[in-house]
Amino acid sequence: MILIDGKKAAAELRAELKEEVAELRSKHNKVPGLTVILIGDLTPSQIYVRNKEKSANEVGLKSEVIKYPDTVEEKTVLEKIQELNSDETVSGILVQLPLPKHIDKQKVIEAIDPSKDVDGFHPMNVGNLSSGYESSIPCTPLGCYLLIKKIEPNLNGKKAVIVGRSNLNGKPMTQLLLKENCTVTITHSKTKDLKAECLEADIIVAAVGIPELVRGDWVKKDAVVIDVGINKTDSGIVGDVHFDEVSKNAKALTPVPGGVGPMTIACLLKNTIDCFKRSQIK
Ligand code: NAD
Repeated sequence: MILIDGKKAAAELRAELKEEVAELRSKHNKVPGLTVILIGDLTPSQIYVRNKEKSANEVGLKSEVIKYPDTVEEKTVLEKIQELNSDETVSGILVQLPLPKHIDKQKVIEAIDPSKDVDGFHPMNVGNLSSGYESSIPCTPLGCYLLIKKIEPNLNGKKAVIVGRSNLNGKPMTQLLLKENCTVTITHSKTKDLKAECLEADIIVAAVGIPELVRGDWVKKDAVVIDVGINKTDSGIVGDVHFDEVSKNAKALTPVPGGVGPMTIACLLKNTIDCFKRSQIK
């Protein structure tokens, strides 16, 4: 079984991005900039943002974190986004989710200029992705896609089963694999026989949030299995895939931690650089 090393893949991607930033610096005399807005003091969000900032600095991006208390008014956040939209030194804007209840997530996402939407959540980017046009692609599915391509460079005609239909993971993942000519089945909480669906799959991407849902006897021999889940349990962090069981059947599997997680941040940096490059063409 191939253990898909997301940490290593992310380090390789960051090294490539670092070179690209250096080239952009010498060509344009400026570097891409990432601005993250962090609202409130949720510990996981603070950790994510710290890691994003650290990685951005490592590859040479200009990075900035704007922090607000969780009592901040929605209007203040929307005004800040408008200011960042017209700031030429800002290539990418990310508002760390989740937001406090009194702030409308959709309003915030839609306020971000689609050309600076490094999370790929703006409806314009969602639509472009599903139409097969150029767009920002949500970072986690993009990371999964890059890991899958390392194992299976030619995905033509492969059967892919996506477990979970979230806007963040399952739906964009489906679009990416459709673009690669996979036959894609998207499953969810109302799917009748999830095991039977998974048993058909050459590629499984599990993004559910249920610890070890995907079992060893759900997976065809030689399937590539990508585990997006991050679930806190009494025995530590586990994915949505039963690692010990599935590793006995699968051709390749991502571990949790050390699989998809590190790729998510590397893809955020990639998206920031891609936004910058597109802005220079205009
Ligand atoms: P979500 O809660 O938004 O969506 C979960 C999806 O799973 C839903 O579409 C639901 O229909 C489906 N589902 C629920 N129960 C099911 C069942 N029994 N069978 C089949 N489908 C079922 O979740 P999300 O935001 O997509 O996150 C999923 C997991 O991925 C979580 O564990 C989250 O922590 C993790 N995650 C990891 C990363 C990363 O970088 N590795 C990034 C984002 C999310």
